[in-house]
Amino acid sequence: MPFIITEPCLEVKDATCVTVCPVDCIQTTDDDKMFFIDPVTCIDCAYCESVCPVNAIFDEFTVPAKWREYIRKNREFFANSKR
Ligand code: SF4
Ligand code: SF4
Repeated sequence: MPFIITEPCLEVKDATCVTVCPVDCIQTTDDDKMFFIDPVTCIDCAYCESVCPVNAIFDEFTVPAKWREYIRKNREFFANSKR
C-alpha cells in the first residue's frame, strides 16, 4: 500500500516530504511540476503524509476519487525514468 502524491503538490513542490523519507523514494525533475513517490520502494511509513503543508499525500486506498489518476502518474514517473 504505497503512498501517492496528488494534485495539491502542483506548483508547491516544496520538497518537505523528501527531507523525511527514510528510503529516498520521492523524486522529481526540473521539468515536472510536482514530486512523485516510487511505489516499489515506498515502505509505507507515512512520515511524508504528516509533513506535507498542502495535504497532497494519501495512502493508495484513501486517495480521493477525483485524484485517483495520480496513482498511475506516480507509478509511470518511475517506470519511465528506469527505461
Ligand atoms: S510513506 Fe514513507 S517511505 Fe513512503 S514515500 Fe512517504 S516517507 Fe517515503
Ligand atoms: S511536501 Fe507536499 S507539497 Fe511539498 S513536495 Fe511533498 S507532496 Fe509536494
